[in-house]
Amino acid sequence: MRPARARIDLSALRHNYGVARQTHGGQVMAVLKANGYGHGAIPCAQALQQTADGFAVAFVAEGVALREAGIQGSLLSLEGCFDMDELQQCVVLDIWPVVHQLAQVEQIERLDLPAGRSLHVWLKIDTGMHRVGFAPDAVATIHRRLLESGKVGQITFMTHFAQADDLAVDATRLQIERFNQATAGLEGGRSLSNSAAIQAWPAAYGNWGRQGISLYGVDPVDQTRSHPELRAVMTLEAGIFAERWLEPGDALSYGATFVAERRTRIGLVALGYADGYPRSAPTGTAVWVRGQRTRLVGRVCMDMLMVDLTDLPEAGSGDWVEFWGPHIPVGEIAAAVGTISYELLCNVKRVAFEYQG
Ligand SMILES: *Cc1c(COP(=O)(O)O)cnc(C)c1O
Repeated sequence: MRPARARIDLSALRHNYGVARQTHGGQVMAVLKANGYGHGAIPCAQALQQTADGFAVAFVAEGVALREAGIQGSLLSLEGCFDMDELQQCVVLDIWPVVHQLAQVEQIERLDLPAGRSLHVWLKIDTGMHRVGFAPDAVATIHRRLLESGKVGQITFMTHFAQADDLAVDATRLQIERFNQATAGLEGGRSLSNSAAIQAWPAAYGNWGRQGISLYGVDPVDQTRSHPELRAVMTLEAGIFAERWLEPGDALSYGATFVAERRTRIGLVALGYADGYPRSAPTGTAVWVRGQRTRLVGRVCMDMLMVDLTDLPEAGSGDWVEFWGPHIPVGEIAAAVGTISYELLCNVKRVAFEYQG
């Protein structure tokens, strides 16, 4: 079998959830959108089922998949419903819809609800992200309208931060202020914090935190460092399956982007950009082999890539190479290719997924 795998440490996942729960207090939702940030939403939900206060997904179909896998408890659809059918599914499967625009309020008003049933709706307020959500001055009216629809039993106010990971700017403080003003005196729960705010903005704590990236072990404020408390959940690794020597002047791989300056020993590794490792990773990008850092060399191919073993004489065929995990923060690789850990994690595919803990 091709030695290429993503090992998923479910005890690390539970540990990271506990860290956020402890920090934030109240209740914390484990965000499992995009297949659990690439880790597998169902096994992650199963691992957290006994511990987590609730789960969040991006849209209703992701929630339906969790329900069909037997996941119980609070479940929130962050984008709410795209149409009436989805709203019906929310009723049947007890999924909480976010409401961020008028069309969704109207759908709720038109909804045929069985007697004795009511919805728990999350009312999203645009406090400065300017993506989706109601303007602060519309909140009281929408709140009243939802309650008067007769379909809504419970409302939680929510907002989402644009820059909670940047402690140097004032944006988050302003968003918190606008949120508090918009919701003052209105009855309902409060939910403001993503992972970065759970870590860094106590003023944003409410009834519910929404933990995404830090659940998976990434420091939400400084993605390139290993967080002192969090543990990497995914280890992306593959085996060395061949070795060769380059002589000075030999060029390696497509485009000849790497030319050996000295005799260089290369390990060929069974992972490529078709598995989600970024093709844009340049020569020099860190990898972990036999307890040491070494580097990627030459252009990443679809099914394989090359690492420098010159200074690791004991390393060779059969050894595993860690691309990210406990030794190489995924955010460090993300930074090296101009993206964020989120994108790399949710792009992992084709490799074997092995769950432990
Ligand atoms: C994805 C998402 C989160 C989680 O964000 P992280 O930065 O991964 O913690 C929280 N709230 C909303 C609305 C989201 O879309």
